[in-house]
Amino acid sequence: MSDKKIALVTGAGRGIGREIAKTLARDGFFVIVNYAHSSAAADEAVNEIKAEGGDAVSMGFDVADFAAVEKVAADIIKEYGHLDVLVNNAGITRDTLLMAMKEEDFDAVINTNLKGTFNTMRHFSKYMIKNKGGRIINISSISGVAGNAGQANYSASKAGVIGLTKAAAKELGSRNITVNAVAPGYVDTEMTQVLSEKVRESILATVPMKRGGTVADIANAVAFLASDKASYITGQVIQVNGGMG
Ligand code: NAP
Repeated sequence: MSDKKIALVTGAGRGIGREIAKTLARDGFFVIVNYAHSSAAADEAVNEIKAEGGDAVSMGFDVADFAAVEKVAADIIKEYGHLDVLVNNAGITRDTLLMAMKEEDFDAVINTNLKGTFNTMRHFSKYMIKNKGGRIINISSISGVAGNAGQANYSASKAGVIGLTKAAAKELGSRNITVNAVAPGYVDTEMTQVLSEKVRESILATVPMKRGGTVADIANAVAFLASDKASYITGQVIQVNGGMG
């Protein structure tokens, strides 16, 4: 059991997820830092949180594994008593043009980004209902809002996350559970480091604010949605993209 509010951030060992975890810890949450492969990075994130006086643990599981997530949800509730905030941040890309896209590239991206988000929402929402409230914040993308060439799989997964968010908001509103999405534009992380300088420059040229987003830009929007200040906001997509699209 914990007196603090508990937040689970998926894929929080690195990138945007790590910053979300650190920001929520600064706001007083006990944070569960999920990872799938990067256990050392997740431990580093936990150490950074503790160094700032916060509380966190790391927890390895694959969000795409329905049965594993069911067990994790039961274990978390047994250990901590409640889950107050769920942030679905875990995501992958397998970029290529539609004509060249392999079936496994499509399936992998849908399984992690969309089904992974379904899996955690499916298994944690029942405990949030029992607890009479909660916040679910799903990380979508500008690609899910506007579509992006070379990212048919990723764009479909992130558009799917928006549909899932809006449907769940309608189902769970009466249970005092809000469900929202944050759709980042371009943010410099390991995910975007695979892009060539030319592609990066062409993306940034479309940003009215003439810069990429920072991990803090995204984490601050998530922290707002997790806070008491956002208690009447549900079913929305907050685009954090410097005016793109
Ligand atoms: P990143 O640096 O590549 O980090 C991705 C994170 O997802 C990692 O922590 C990774 O953990 C985790 N992850 C991947 N597969 C997982 C799985 N099956 N189960 C659990 N965790 C898993 O990417 P990022 O840029 O921080 O992206 C974070 C989120 O923002 C993603 O949903 C992404 O689609 C979205 N987004 C990013 C941008 C951008 O410009 N960077 C723009 C729009 C949206 P492991 O290393 O442990 O696998």
